[in-house]
Amino acid sequence: MPEKLNLMQHVRFLAGEIGPRPAGTPAHAAATDYVKQTLRRTGLAMEHLPFTVPGWSCDATTLTLNGESGESNNLHAAANLVSPPCDVTAPLVTAGTVADLDALAKSGDLAGKIAVLYDDLTRYPLIPLNCPIYNDPRDQHINRTLLEANPAAVITVNPHLNNVERRIEDADFTIPSATVPADVGARLLHHAVNHANEPVHLRIVAQDITQTAPVAAHHILGLQPGSHPARIALMAHFDTKLDTPGAWDNAGGIAALLGLAERLAGRDLGCGLEFIAFADEENYSQDHVVYINERGPLFGDVIAAINMDGIAHILGQNTITCMAGNEAFQAALAGVTAHYPRVQWVDPWPQSNHSTFAFNGVPAVALCSSVGWDIVSLRHQPGDTPLWLSNDLLNEVVDLVVAIVETLADKSPDAFRVSTTPA
Ligand SMILES: [Zn+2]
Repeated sequence: MPEKLNLMQHVRFLAGEIGPRPAGTPAHAAATDYVKQTLRRTGLAMEHLPFTVPGWSCDATTLTLNGESGESNNLHAAANLVSPPCDVTAPLVTAGTVADLDALAKSGDLAGKIAVLYDDLTRYPLIPLNCPIYNDPRDQHINRTLLEANPAAVITVNPHLNNVERRIEDADFTIPSATVPADVGARLLHHAVNHANEPVHLRIVAQDITQTAPVAAHHILGLQPGSHPARIALMAHFDTKLDTPGAWDNAGGIAALLGLAERLAGRDLGCGLEFIAFADEENYSQDHVVYINERGPLFGDVIAAINMDGIAHILGQNTITCMAGNEAFQAALAGVTAHYPRVQWVDPWPQSNHSTFAFNGVPAVALCSSVGWDIVSLRHQPGDTPLWLSNDLLNEVVDLVVAIVETLADKSPDAFRVSTTPA
């Protein structure tokens, strides 16, 4: 058995010392330096894929209701990512369903008001208007209806207590907007019924992205050439949502990636290795766009893509799934996981960097935890600290991925692809 690596040191640095690190922030730049320097020390050839994100930061979001405001009055509100600044005093209108919203838009009752969206409209974050990865006609309709009806501001109600995971994260959504937790949403709905004519005040003190210069960021690549062009891509993202230290999501994945570089750099495997630390999985989709633009032409050389996101939760087990591979791929993986009986096979899930490969026909593996993304009290929350991660489970992922790499290293990139019959 290989010696256990101290992978928690990376988690503690990224999530403990640095903390929340959305692309474009100084903390993100510090995380970039740490990952780059740690990868470089293993002897990999370093490259980077630059991009820019909007220069946005928010100094304050204040919601005032019946003369009360602020967290001491349980009126917490948080500006949505890249929201324009505002200082709006207006009556509320409310919509819980697409039909509610359509009726309000038709009657002209949204213009100049503060629209409170809840229930079906804000159960999950709305997919951005020009999202390059997913396109949801329903979310497009909601976004466009709001932009055309032109309310003075939008308040999105997160259905969970103490949770302001943003419901709008979209540079093309040009109406000022903020997210409130469930109890604040309930107070707003009571207010709309009982004090319909009394205006509510929403103030967002934030940078206006139309007036600020974009901020530079980059993905980090650590390359090890093989004796032929075929390569295996290993990846994790190091950025976070707003307000979360992101230990489980995804300092743990990066810790495993750094551990894999330590174990695999310098080894003669035949195929090449590409270690990818993605810089923007959470907020601006630049992982997908920039990587495909720069490296997409080389997808034909990739034997498999292996992504680690949300691994090693101490209250669960590591999980594995695969996408876009043929039966031989699944059989090869099953042969390896047979030696890791605690690792659970789960259904395919697309919500992370492996999809960039899988959606383009590259056989892909995704590793996560059995606790799943449905822990809303933890996912993208301030409580996502190193407490939740297990060094043993991080090492299990590293051991497993090393074994997968050893199994796939001498295969041709065509060996595991789903064959497409010419028409
Ligand atoms: Zn993640």
